[in-house]
Amino acid sequence: MCGIVCYVGNKQAGPILLEGLRQLEYRGYDSAGLAIQDGNNIECYRSKGKIAALESRLEGLDIKGTVGIAHTRWATHGEPSEKNAHPHTNTDKNVFVIHNGIIENYYFLKKKLKKNGARFRSDTDTEILAHLIGFNYNGDLNDAVRKTMEQVEGTFGLAVIHKNSPDEIVIARRGSPLVIGIGEDGHFAASDVSAMVRYTNKVVHIQDNEIATLTMDNFSISTAQAKPINRKTETVEWGTEDTELDGFPHYMLKEIFEQPDTIKNAIRGRLEQGEGVPKLGGIMPVWDSLKESRHLVIVACGTSYYAGSVGKYVFEKLTEIDVQVELASEFRYRKLNFAPNTFIIALSQSGETADTLAAIREAKRKGARLLGIVNVVGSSISRETEAGVYNHAGPEIGVASTKIFTSQLTILTLMALLLGRYQNLSLTEGVEAIRAIQSLPEQVREVLSQANRIEAIAEKYCRYNNWLFLGRKYNYPVAMEGALKLKEVSYIHAEGYPAGEMKHGPIALINPEMPTVAIVPKDDIYEKMISNISEIKARKGKVIAIVTEGDDKIKELADDVIEIPPTLQFLNPILTVIPCQLLAYYCAGFLNREIDKPRNLAKSVTVE
Ligand code: GLU
Repeated sequence: MCGIVCYVGNKQAGPILLEGLRQLEYRGYDSAGLAIQDGNNIECYRSKGKIAALESRLEGLDIKGTVGIAHTRWATHGEPSEKNAHPHTNTDKNVFVIHNGIIENYYFLKKKLKKNGARFRSDTDTEILAHLIGFNYNGDLNDAVRKTMEQVEGTFGLAVIHKNSPDEIVIARRGSPLVIGIGEDGHFAASDVSAMVRYTNKVVHIQDNEIATLTMDNFSISTAQAKPINRKTETVEWGTEDTELDGFPHYMLKEIFEQPDTIKNAIRGRLEQGEGVPKLGGIMPVWDSLKESRHLVIVACGTSYYAGSVGKYVFEKLTEIDVQVELASEFRYRKLNFAPNTFIIALSQSGETADTLAAIREAKRKGARLLGIVNVVGSSISRETEAGVYNHAGPEIGVASTKIFTSQLTILTLMALLLGRYQNLSLTEGVEAIRAIQSLPEQVREVLSQANRIEAIAEKYCRYNNWLFLGRKYNYPVAMEGALKLKEVSYIHAEGYPAGEMKHGPIALINPEMPTVAIVPKDDIYEKMISNISEIKARKGKVIAIVTEGDDKIKELADDVIEIPPTLQFLNPILTVIPCQLLAYYCAGFLNREIDKPRNLAKSVTVE
C-alpha cells in the first residue's frame, strides 16, 4: 500500500529518495516524509498530501547527507496529517523509523512506554516502534530492531536510522514487502522495485521475520534469531520506460492500451498449436498431481476475484475439474476442509496482497497444494506457492487494475485448456481454442480503436449517479468488474448483477435516470439477455449494450451499442471487459476525478 524507499551510498540521498517516492506515490498517498542522516545529525521533513507538497517544502533547503529513509503513507491509525506522517521518532529524537503495516498491540505498548516516560507526538501505531527501538538501542541498531520485533505483534515492513549509527540503515519485515537494491555506489531498500529501477535492476528479496543491515558497500540479512542468510541476487525485468506515461494522460489509459501486448506476453512461448496443448513450464513441478486433481479453489480479492470468477466458468467448460472461487478475506477465516489433492490458485497482481497471502498459508496448513498467478517476480505469493505462472505484464501503476485482469484471464484459460486436453477436450477443440487465443491481441486492438466512440458514450451518461451492469455466465463476473471499475475511478455508484437475478430485486431501481450496461455477446444465453434488456426498456431504462459485431437485433433495442469481434464464448470476457474499462476511465475524466489515484484507495493491499 504505502511505500518505503531508502538509500545509503556515496551520493546525496535527498534527490534519490524524492525520485523513489514519486515512483511509489501510486501505492498510498495521504502524506509523505523523509529523514536524512548527515553523519552528525538527522533532519526529518514531512508533509500532508502529495509528494509535490513535500517537494515544495524542501525547495531551497540544502539537505546534506548520504543515508536516508522515505515514506508515503496510507493512514490506518490516525488521520492523514503532518504529525502522523512518517518518519516517526522517539522522545530523544535519535531514532527515525518508517513503517508499512499495522502494529496490533500498539495500544498496550503505548501505555507501557508512556509509563516509562516516552513522549508521544502522533496518533499512529508506528510511533511505538521508534520508542521501542530507542529503548532497546545499546550501540547496535540491528540488535535493537531484533529485540523490538520480539515485542510487537502485527505486520510491518520497516526501515530505521539512528543518530549514533550514522552509516547504516536497518530494515525488517513481517508481512509487508521489502526488497534490497544493489546499486553501483550504494544500497537501496524499498517496498516495491519500481522505486529503484531507475538506479538498479539487481535486487534481493527480504522474507518474513528477517532483518537486514545496509551500508554503502555492504548488506547482510539474518533471521529474527540472528542466523545469517545468504540469498541470491535477482535481476528485475522492468526498465524505467515501463514506469513512464509514454504520452498517455494517465497510467490507467496507458495500461488499458497495453493490453494487446500484455495478452501477447501472457501467451508468448506458451502456445503449441499443432497439438492444441499450451505449455506452462511454471506449473510443471506439480504437474503429475495437478493433472489428477479434480478440485481447484481460486482465491483472490477485488478485480482478481472477478478474473477468478470468469476462470471458474472457463475451467468448467474446458475440464472436468470442480472449481470454487473464494474471496481471500472470507476464505482465510472459514473452516477449511479440502478433498485430497485439492489445488489452490492464488491470483494477485503484486503477489503481496495480505488477505490472499494469509489465505494460502491457511490452506497449506489444511493440506491443500498451492499455485500462484502473479505479476511481480519474486513476490511473497510467488515464493510461498509450489508452482505458478507469471503474468509478465510489466508494472501496473494505475490503482484500478485493468491489464492484469485480462492477463489473468488469459493465463487461467491456458491452464484450463492444458488440463482439459489431458481430460475430455479433443485435439480439434484444443487447436480451435489456441487459434482463437492467438487472435485475441489483435481483437483487443480492434475494441480499443473504438475508444473515441466509447468516450462519447461516457460523456452522454457520466452525470447519472447510479448504474447497473448486467451479464450472464462468462460475462456475469465482467458485469461485476465493470461496476467495480466505475465505482473505483469515477465514484459513480454502480452494481454488477447476473442478469437473471434482475427481476428478483434490482429491477425496482430501473427508471430513465439509471443506465444499464448490458454485456450481451453472441453466446448460448444471448436470447435470455435480450429478454432482460427488453424488460429494462419496458421500464424506460437506458441501455448501453456490448455486443458481437453485426448484431442488428440489439441495435433496435439498446440506446447505444459497442461492438466486439466474434470469438469463442469462453474468451468473450477478455474483449467485453475492455469497453467497461474505457467507460469507467472516460466517465472519471469528465467528472474530473484523480484517475490514477482514486480517493481512499491504494495499490497492492498489504493490510487486512
Ligand atoms: N499503520 C501506519 C500508519 O497508520 C502505517 C500505515 C501505512 O502502511 O502507511 O501510519
